[in-house]
Amino acid sequence: MKTVAVLGGGPAGAFAAERLAEAGLKVVVFDEKLAWEKPCGGGLTFKAYNEYPFLIDNDTPKRLIRQTTIAAPKAGEVKMELTHPLVIYSRMDLNRMLLERAERAGAFIEKTRVLGIDRRESGWTLRTKNGMADADFCIVATGARNPLRGVGTEWSATDTMSALGYYVPASQEHIDIQFLPQLEGYIWVFPRCGHLSVGICGKGEPAQSLRARLEQYMDERGIAWKGSAFYSHMLPSLESPGWKKNRVAGDGWMAVGDAGGLVDPITGEGLYYAMRSGDLASRVVVDDAHGLVEKAAAYRALLRREFAMDLEFAAVLAKRVFLGNFMFNAVPTRMIQFIRRSPRFRDLMQDLFSGTQPYLTLKSRLLRNLNGTLQEVLMNFFLNRVIPERSRASL
Ligand SMILES: Cc1cc2nc3c(=O)[nH]c(=O)nc-3n(C[C@H](O)[C@H](O)[C@H](O)COP(=O)(O)OP(=O)(O)OC[C@H]3O[C@@H](n4cnc5c(N)ncnc54)[C@H](O)[C@@H]3O)c2cc1C
Repeated sequence: MKTVAVLGGGPAGAFAAERLAEAGLKVVVFDEKLAWEKPCGGGLTFKAYNEYPFLIDNDTPKRLIRQTTIAAPKAGEVKMELTHPLVIYSRMDLNRMLLERAERAGAFIEKTRVLGIDRRESGWTLRTKNGMADADFCIVATGARNPLRGVGTEWSATDTMSALGYYVPASQEHIDIQFLPQLEGYIWVFPRCGHLSVGICGKGEPAQSLRARLEQYMDERGIAWKGSAFYSHMLPSLESPGWKKNRVAGDGWMAVGDAGGLVDPITGEGLYYAMRSGDLASRVVVDDAHGLVEKAAAYRALLRREFAMDLEFAAVLAKRVFLGNFMFNAVPTRMIQFIRRSPRFRDLMQDLFSGTQPYLTLKSRLLRNLNGTLQEVLMNFFLNRVIPERSRASL
């Protein structure tokens, strides 16, 4: 393999390009915007900067936020001190830093829109706004709105969320997370350098109604949104069937980041998975042990082993977390009450915030910390069963 074309220069594409160039391949990144303020909270979890320490050890402007306030209807709010801060970037700054790293590693960066890609007997011909280009392999990193047919996740309405918000010229020292009645999603307030990113994500609800919920929240909090810059984008949020048939690789290509649907269906965290998938894809590309067909299979297997199985399980939990009931109250309401009462539950929430608590082992960790009756109630929650009368009576 001589030339790898990386289609899209967001975090997934830029990081894949850096790794591939470091390995000595000729890499060309095609991005129509290069560094830009992609609609995003910009929050990086401990999981991300623990894996890639340069994400915290650098001169790029960023905020390190240690305090968070979580609120839900009928439960009020609870404050939590984070063991590991959330690192929050403006996306313009983060994207620029990652593209510069790719360039320093030897990747060529071209500002152009990719209009289409055509498979040749061996390799690809790319049609771009600047003309034609050839490549032996394609990394598809064009994000959630991937315009290239035939490569990357095939979206259905149930596999996406709307996400929108405002960049507000204000400042605060903590993160706010607000759950809302009957919403599979949440509101966030992330402090960034010089402004707040205030947004909402939600599934199965029109963007207009999400925007109305967000504006009402901002009015109630005295956050001035009129005149602030508005943003909206699509957020991948694959459900179980979506994960099962997810198209992440094929003959001569691999999809990384949002173009492969690689986002946590509960939190909406995508930056870590974008970079990690870029890293994993590049490892498979440079590994001479695999032919083209085996490369696709090897990448799928790596993703599954690293995090896709966990995210698939999160897709099962998502509706129960946002819309389910636990002990006759909404789950987010109960969550707040448990954080207040139980230091162990608080620790668990800390780990969820850090990204260090996998969903697949959440049940066993919760069960270890509960007594008999609550254990039974919790098992039913995970199995999505009705709570038996016996347990109800003893609550
Ligand atoms: C409102 C919102 C808030 C979010 N908040 C967070 C958060 O706080 N933390 C977190 O971890 N995740 C968050 N996410 C998710 C995160 O933004 C994405 O997971 C992440 O940007 C994915 O990176 P990517 O490189 O795969 O795609 P993108 O960042 O979307 O990059 C894709 C790139 O491809 C380029 N491109 C697309 N099509 C073409 C084409 N045809 N030709 C050339 N270039 C093209 C684009 O210009 C773009 O630069 C949020 C998402 C949204 C929508």
